[in-house]
Amino acid sequence: MQQKVLVIESSDTSLKRVSRLVRKAGLSPVGADSLIQARQLFEHSTPETFLCAIVAYALPDAPRGEAIDFTTGAFLPTIAVTEDINPLTRSAVLERQVIDYVPKENAQNYDYLHRLLKRLHKNKYTGVMVVSNDRQVRNDMTSLLLRHNFVVYECTCAADAYQLLGAHPHIRLILTTNTLPDASGTQFVSSLRKALSKEQLGIIGIAGAEGTIMSAHFIKSGANDFLRIPYCHEEALCRIMQNVEYMESVQAIREAANTDYLTGLSNRRHFFYEVNLGYSSLPTPHSLALLDLDFFKRINDDYGHDAGDAVLKAIARLITQHFDNAVFARFGGEEFCVYFPHSEAGDVLKRLEAFRLDVEQSCIVHEGHELHVTTSIGVCSYDDSDIDTLLREADKRLYRAKHLGRNQICSSD
Ligand code: GH3
Ligand code: MG
Ligand code: MG
Repeated sequence: MQQKVLVIESSDTSLKRVSRLVRKAGLSPVGADSLIQARQLFEHSTPETFLCAIVAYALPDAPRGEAIDFTTGAFLPTIAVTEDINPLTRSAVLERQVIDYVPKENAQNYDYLHRLLKRLHKNKYTGVMVVSNDRQVRNDMTSLLLRHNFVVYECTCAADAYQLLGAHPHIRLILTTNTLPDASGTQFVSSLRKALSKEQLGIIGIAGAEGTIMSAHFIKSGANDFLRIPYCHEEALCRIMQNVEYMESVQAIREAANTDYLTGLSNRRHFFYEVNLGYSSLPTPHSLALLDLDFFKRINDDYGHDAGDAVLKAIARLITQHFDNAVFARFGGEEFCVYFPHSEAGDVLKRLEAFRLDVEQSCIVHEGHELHVTTSIGVCSYDDSDIDTLLREADKRLYRAKHLGRNQICSSD
């Protein structure tokens, strides 16, 4: 579902510019040129309709930030847009519970606004946990995080934190103070680190009056970063954002390294990683199949490389549909591999045959052409063999299936 952003701005040029930016971020703008109009729009919607609001500080019917008061009062995360950055306006804006402020007519800041919008959208799916037995610390941090759309969890001790973390795998970041009733903050951090790396879970230590030395202890125990009380909201947010973005970048790089760019399936390297990780002692009975498209080169020759690509993508989709509970990958070119753990040979053959038939009967339409393709399959099901042996044997059988006339499964020597 596309998310809406309420834009309150009386200048037509600015409204258009901000709206364009909102669309660029994949969101849909709803414009209001006055506070009155914004109120009317808001009355006819629920608060969840809007991801956030971008609000001009001064409007003809709201000259001193009253529109900002309205949106923050309605619990909408609010980004203020100011005419200038004079210190009086800045502090008038920051006194209110806004996410941030952006001075108008500055291209770089509009760039920043774009990033902020994307972040706000992603934050709705990002869990952050605040661990402290100091209610004030929890309240301050929670209010800041909620303003930025994070899904926030609070607890007072390490034991509850472990439990919450187990129950909510989307928690990506933990903020913790040092004095917990059942562990010191640094003990808590190092025990978390035994299970989860800095890329899997971000931890920010909150150092209180102990000051400098505590922040060093936190970092040495494995925290990604630290914050010292009293902190200013802008700094806290920068650190939170930086850590969340760091984890997302690492995850994106990892995904890119494990995924075949064309089909989105795992690549050969990741296939072996998954099989070895998931099944350190190999489950039996188990099977491995190698699939190779027949006369695929002709599709490229007759219809072009793009048509070949479209066929590979369509076959990848079929593999995903047919081989639930199996580990599969594109091995290269027009060859795919499927590993079936805990599966009887007879069942595997039935599934492969259903797939072979589905490929044969599929019609892949590309630029007006109807493309048809078939697949040859070699499968091996020795109970006590390791993956390499299964693979070697499946490869021989695939070759036999080709030799015997293609579009068939070969399951014996
Ligand atoms: P066989 O039935 O013996 O397997 O014949 P084949 O034509 O499928 O096999 P061959 O190995 O001769 O040709 C495979 C072709 O696959 C050659 C190569 O250009 C093409 N190919 C490999 N990767 C891609 C790709 O990513 N996209 C496209 N469009 N073609 C690819
Ligand atoms: Mg082939
Ligand atoms: Mg091939």
